[in-house]
Amino acid sequence: MTQILDRPEALNPFAIAQQQFDLAADILKLDPRLRAVLRVPVRELHVSLPVRMDNGDVKVFKGFRIQYNDARGPSKGGIRFHPDETVDTVRALAAWMTWKTAVMDLPLGGGKGGVICNPKEMSERELERLSRAYIGAIAWIIGPERDIPAPDVYTTPQIMGWMMDEYSKLRGYTAPGAITGKPLSVWGSLGRDDATARGAWYTVREAARVLDIDLSKARVAIQGFGNAGTFAATLGLELFGCKVVAVSDSQGGVFNPKGVDYATLHDWKAAHGSVAGCAAGEPISNADILETDVDILIPAALENQITARNAPHIKARIVAEAANGPTTPEADAILHQRGVFVIPDFLCNAGGVTVSYFEWVQNQRGMPWELDEVHRRLDRKMTRAFGEVLAASRKHNVDMRTGAYCVAVARVAEATRARGWA
Ligand code: NAD
Repeated sequence: MTQILDRPEALNPFAIAQQQFDLAADILKLDPRLRAVLRVPVRELHVSLPVRMDNGDVKVFKGFRIQYNDARGPSKGGIRFHPDETVDTVRALAAWMTWKTAVMDLPLGGGKGGVICNPKEMSERELERLSRAYIGAIAWIIGPERDIPAPDVYTTPQIMGWMMDEYSKLRGYTAPGAITGKPLSVWGSLGRDDATARGAWYTVREAARVLDIDLSKARVAIQGFGNAGTFAATLGLELFGCKVVAVSDSQGGVFNPKGVDYATLHDWKAAHGSVAGCAAGEPISNADILETDVDILIPAALENQITARNAPHIKARIVAEAANGPTTPEADAILHQRGVFVIPDFLCNAGGVTVSYFEWVQNQRGMPWELDEVHRRLDRKMTRAFGEVLAASRKHNVDMRTGAYCVAVARVAEATRARGWA
């Protein structure tokens, strides 16, 4: 097999992505020629970006745009601005986007971009110049019919607005469908803000049906109180009447068996920058929140939170992975063996990319949708994908994560074969 790794295997995110693909390919008994094609990205662009800094110096930033596979449609995936970005992280994320769009059955492939920089040390003007330089350098491989970037770590709707503007200037016309996650004033989609948490809750509702859990009596713990975690807290109550008994962020958490009052939490966080210390409940640590006695646990913060050490003590019946990669492979095996129902990240948090896809559709047609249409279509997509993954996991007698890989890899493999690439 082709190897394009630049770091030791054990630490390399792309090696992990390849191992996950190999597992699904083994189960599906995938033709070796298809395996060879699907194991590596179809296209990589590495760019050097000279940017004039506010003090007059010119700094050269390194950036990437990687299109992993576009057999099913234009590539789709975010852009990260991060000091620790590496080409293998971008490769892995591009692969995961390919499987995510496929498991959701979107007519898209997977891609990812990244620039090695520290936005926290840059002024707004420097960030704007870097954003425009990046789009200028990759414009010839992106576009509404080729590859549609979106926000990711440390990139914002404002940055997407600059990027769409730069792409449009280069083309000579306004091209809103070139980038998603834009501000609403330049045709972002209604419903994008809570899409990840809302999609996650739709999958929880389906899992609760399978396990015969009454959500109106369910207790919930949420680790992480940013975009995904905050909306997960409000929507759990709003959509299904669940009781959120514990929440945490990087500085600590609160626990209240009667339910944590959201308004109190919100005001405390606005005033103190964290939920830690809030009088809505007793203090709880970030480690303890994962082992709380709840029906549903929603990791919505970082990767590698549920490990072989705490997996034996998780009490939740459903783990809904709103975060990317919160469960290590060892913990996965333990949870599966203990009968904990894990809704894997690239299904559970796919509401975000699904509404990004809706944004692109609205832009291409020049016809914005009402909010209720976004919600209705998102529900249909999430519910259908959940059912297909559940069926695959039962058919192959594997956990939901492996089932999701089987669905996704089979779809991309079939498109790759149908197009005669292997
Ligand atoms: P965010 O930056 O808005 O929020 C992250 C939250 O996690 C913050 O509240 C932070 O305090 C908290 N946190 C950090 N370290 C923690 C720790 N050790 N313990 C507990 N909490 C901690 O990010 P987000 O957009 O909400 O993303 C959260 C996760 O969801 C990430 O894994 C992200 O990849 C994933 N995700 C987000 C989206 C989206 O649309 N926002 C889509 C798909 C996946």
